[in-house]
Formats: sequence, structure tokens, C-alpha cells
Amino acid sequence: MKIRDRYAPSPTGLQHIGGIRTALFNYLFARSKSGTFILRLEDTDRTRSDQSFVQNLYDTFKWLGIRWDEGPDCGGHFAPYIQSERSELYKKFAEELVGKGFGYYCFCTAERIDQVRQEREAARSPESGYDRHCRVIPPEEAARRAQAGEACTIRLKIPLGETTRFHDHLLGDIEWKNDDVNPDPVLLKSDGFPTYHLANVVDDHLMEISHVLRAQEWLASTPLHVIMYRCFGWEPPQFCHLPMVMGQDGKKLSKRHGATSIDEFRLQGYMPEALINYVALLGASYEDNRDIYSLQELEKLFCLEKLSKAPAVFDYKKLEWFNGQYIRMKSDDELAVLCLPFAIEAGLFGTEGKEPTADQHKLFTAAMPLIRERLVLLNEAPEKIAYLFSEPALPAAEEFIPKKSDRTGTIQLLQLGRELIPSLAQSPDDTTAEVIIKEKCEQESVKLGDVMMPLRVAITGSRVSPPLFGSLRLLGVEKSLQRVDKALALLTENGA
Ligand code: GLU
Ligand code: ZN
Repeated sequence: MKIRDRYAPSPTGLQHIGGIRTALFNYLFARSKSGTFILRLEDTDRTRSDQSFVQNLYDTFKWLGIRWDEGPDCGGHFAPYIQSERSELYKKFAEELVGKGFGYYCFCTAERIDQVRQEREAARSPESGYDRHCRVIPPEEAARRAQAGEACTIRLKIPLGETTRFHDHLLGDIEWKNDDVNPDPVLLKSDGFPTYHLANVVDDHLMEISHVLRAQEWLASTPLHVIMYRCFGWEPPQFCHLPMVMGQDGKKLSKRHGATSIDEFRLQGYMPEALINYVALLGASYEDNRDIYSLQELEKLFCLEKLSKAPAVFDYKKLEWFNGQYIRMKSDDELAVLCLPFAIEAGLFGTEGKEPTADQHKLFTAAMPLIRERLVLLNEAPEKIAYLFSEPALPAAEEFIPKKSDRTGTIQLLQLGRELIPSLAQSPDDTTAEVIIKEKCEQESVKLGDVMMPLRVAITGSRVSPPLFGSLRLLGVEKSLQRVDKALALLTENGA
């Protein structure tokens, strides 16, 4: 069987975690089966669809590195892949259903529908949805009225008293009494545009979609879709409704849980590899005791049997962990390229938006080994190495003083550190630097930490910083001495 699946978003909002999870699973399923992955834009809601959301979709998937084989931008045998460009087609199929007696014209006005709703409310009736008012109009009469131009929609004539059954890959056999299905929903609106149900079913059929992998929130629409396939005389695709993605509070993932659009993740310094890896694990597992997977590996390992029924919980901490792991895998040059836009934006090279000079760029790349192990998000890079690019603000005198020491003692410790600066800053590597400083400490009978701490504060402006020896090497002897002298001046002037 030829595997063909699709991501069929409605461009009515920015791409978010739930959406890319659906897209990714469809992509991976198609790849794992040497199938075809299709992008189809379901823009039948003309008021809510917007071109900017289409652009956001393209940008997001380009950034993630996920490509479809057929779609609006790359074409394909079943083009067009944008539903608003396929209107005539849906109309034809809706009329076909009317002709077969599985659909009917409805002439109800919005006012009438509203009135029915109000009356039910007043009577506390449990009924909802359309009251099937026009279902009983004789077809010839209805056709005549429609022909004469009377405003009308086309509704599905759900066969009552029957049960609709279908199989879901994950949830098993599902049964639904037709009387409980959305009562005779609109398929074609009075403006000639289709509703989601009609366009979705027609397109999945025409585009020869073999598998529908979509979020579980669509499960309630599936009986309706299966009924439509039967009315058309078509074979329905295989269904697999994916587990929901929840926030840690057990509620459906939403804005309340922080960044929701993929744009926001990108702007915060998450990397596509990390997002893909983490999202691929939302509701699926691959191999035991393993977390890290590249997209290429996932393309081989994905299978529907490894999906879980339970809702997936989205955990920012876990995503951060993945991001950190992928940062560690980058070379200095790669990491510098990734962090550079954040540094430029933060004004690391002078003013906000300023590009680095050649020297600054060199220093920036050279600083990557100092922060690689400490970065969780790319946007933290500029702040962590700012002290290499401009002099840090001098901390208060107390910041320099190690435990059990005092001002006078600290001045001596700093002076000792100062003496070591030329050899430390010119040492070829950390091991050599460590030997140098340790020997000195032994000679002078002082603790290594007591020498390192004030020196670190003087050089980096903080007690917590990237590695000191690497920082000294990057700053060079002259600048390092200046910073220590400034610190000494501060400690002395405040009355030692
Ligand atoms: N247009 C629907 C959406 O926005 C597609 C649902 C489906 O995959 O059938 O998610
Ligand atoms: Zn009606």
C-alpha cells in the first residue's frame, strides 16, 4: 500500500507545539514507510485565515528542517493544495450528495437557527445543533428554490437509527450512534465555500491519503467523516488520533504555559534539533533508555505501534535539557554562528544591532569553549561573556573578600594573583595554568580558592563566571592587569 499522509493546518494562528507535533509525526510516519508527506492548507474559514500565518508556517518548518513532498509551495500531482483554490470542486461534491439523497438544501436563516437555540434554552432542552427543519422539504421543491437563487446551505443527511464504526490505530474499534453525531451539519455554506468537514473528506479522498494522523480533539468529527465517506462510496483512510499534549497542570497546552508559538522558542534560543527531538517524544517512544535522536534516526525508528494512548505532558525543563545537550554537540564555529544573532541584538559589540568587528568576531568564537557547557538557551550567551567585550562594573568591595579573610588579607591575595597573571594569561592550556597557580599557593601557604576567588571577581566582575584561566588568556596580560589594579584600588581606597 502506498503510504500518503498529510499535515492539514488551518492558517488561523501561529504554529505551536501541538501543530508541529502533528506535522512531525506525519512526516516521520511517511519517511519511515517510504511514503509521501503532504502539506494542505485548510483555509476554508475565510475570516480567520491570514497570509501572515501561512508565512509563519513556511518559516517555522524551514527552520525546523522539515520538508513536505507535495504542497502549495512545491506543487505536486494533486495541486492545488490550498482549499480556497478548490471551491468549485467542493460544490460539485456537495451537490452530488444532494443528488444521491445524502444531502439536502437548507433555507434556514441565521435568525431562525438562533431562535431555535433560544427556545431550547428557555425550555431547558438538552438538544443542541440543527433541528433538521429542512430535511423534510421534498427534494424537487428544494431544488427548485435553490435554482431560483434562494439563499441556502447544503447539509449532510445523516442516516438515523444506524451506528457508525471505524478503527483507530491507537484507540481500537470505535462505535458511534448516528443519532448522537452532530445533527446534519452544513457541508457547503451559502457563500459557496465548504466547511471543514466537506473539504477535509473530499481532499483526503482525492489526494489519496492513506493515513490520517491528527490530534485527539478531532476524534469527535471522525464518525461524521466516516459517514460521508460511505455516502460518497469511498474507502475511508486509516485513522490514528494522537494523544493530547498537556501542560504540567494537566490542562491542554496553551498560552498560560509560557511560549506557545514556535517563533517564541526560536527567539529564546532553542534549537530546531532540540525541539524536534523533544516533540518526537511527546506521546511516542523509540528505544529503551535513550533520549537523543536526530531527525534522520527518527525517520527510521518511528512507528505507530510505539505511540502511547496517555496524554503527553509538555515539560519545559526537559526541553531545556535537550537544548543544552545539542549545544554541547556544536563546534566552536557552529556555536558562534548560532549565538551571534543574539549577541548582535543584545548589543555585545557596542550598541544594540551592531555587527562585530573582525577582532570581536574572533574573540566571540574563541569564547565559545568557555560557555558551551553552561548554556541552556542560545540567548544566554551574550550576557555570560559580556565581560570579555567591555569592562564589567566593579562590584562592591565585600564581593572580593573570601570567607575567613578580610580586606587586608584580600589585598594580599589579589596581589599574589596579580603576579601570576603574565604566566597564567600566556599559559598554553588550563592544565599548565593550574600547575602554575597551585605551586604558588603551596609556596605561599594559601588556599587555591582564596587566590582564585578575588581574581575571578576582578577579571569577570562576578563570583560565578565562565572558567577563569580561559578568560585570562582571552583578555590578555595587559587588560587583566588593569582590571586587577582597579580592584586593588577599590579595596585600598575604602580604607584597608
Ligand atoms: N484543518 C484541521 C486543523 O486545523 C485539520 C484536522 C485534520 O487533520 O483533519 O487541524
Ligand atoms: Zn434549514
